[in-house]
Amino acid sequence: MSSLPDISFEFFPPKTPEGMAKLRQAREQFSAYQPKFFSVTFGAGGSTRDRTLETVLDIQQAGAEGAPHLSCISASKAEIRQLLQDYQAHGIKRLVALRGDIPSGEVSTGDFRYASELVAFIREETGDHFQIEVAAYPEFHPESRSPNADLQYFKHKVAAGANAAITQYFYNADAYFQFVDQANSLGIDIPIVPGVMPIYNFTQLARFSSVCGAEIPRWLRLRLQDFGDDLASLRDFGSDVVQDLCEQLIAGGVPGLHFYTLNQAGTISNILDRLGVEKRTGK
Ligand code: FAD
Repeated sequence: MSSLPDISFEFFPPKTPEGMAKLRQAREQFSAYQPKFFSVTFGAGGSTRDRTLETVLDIQQAGAEGAPHLSCISASKAEIRQLLQDYQAHGIKRLVALRGDIPSGEVSTGDFRYASELVAFIREETGDHFQIEVAAYPEFHPESRSPNADLQYFKHKVAAGANAAITQYFYNADAYFQFVDQANSLGIDIPIVPGVMPIYNFTQLARFSSVCGAEIPRWLRLRLQDFGDDLASLRDFGSDVVQDLCEQLIAGGVPGLHFYTLNQAGTISNILDRLGVEKRTGK
């Protein structure tokens, strides 16, 4: 197999002390794989602002790199400026810059319409302080007018100053490789790291996928549906599918793998072990 790429993991900010304890356990387990960074999501409209920061600081205190996501929909420039200053003051060096999903019934979108405007604003305010990651969509964003338009808008984010991209998840490696080829042909040369979603539960995955525009291929959907309530068998099968996807991605020379963990370590750790990702032993 080709050499193994960088690994990163995504968490959501827990709501309770028990959730934070569980996240710490997951983080410790993942730390053995020497990830490049752990990122922490940011609720639409800033709803998790404090918990996102708290979770990132907890990661940094444990000696790892923490990267807050930052979504700009409904935010004012003053709010984002303040947040950037707080992040700088806490020694945060990497951000995942997003537009965020437009909340239903929202009247004002705030000062930013698109993630490209947020990226440009971060660069204006903070220069090269932050490594900026943005989102990319191999199966195309659900609101995009066309694949070409989506790629052009992706290019805007890169021109505005993004250093790298993390993709929405997908189960069809060809969609990713096609997307990267098209992006490269448009002169986009930043690393485009595939986002990998493990399979824990069919209903939850189907719900996420219908919102974010990721396709569950027919054969996979039918196989997953067939497991019904037998979650253990579904997860075993799902791990084989995701391992196979990762192997195709690694063989194709991806620059990294970013795992959507949902704050759970077991399934992903098994996949990483089976992929042969080296573990650091001891502390
Ligand atoms: P944009 O890049 O702004 O694109 C949004 C849409 O607008 C696309 O359809 C694009 O084609 C179109 N567009 C862009 N520019 C223009 C323009 N100039 N004119 C017309 N159309 C344009 N959401 C959260 O709320 N919190 C998170 O923490 C979070 N983390 C994420 C992490 C990753 C890796 C990914 C892939 C997604 C994440 N999301 C998160 C979801 C994301 O916010 C949504 O997918 C959102 O709908 C789009 O965000 P974006 O940054 O891709 O937006």
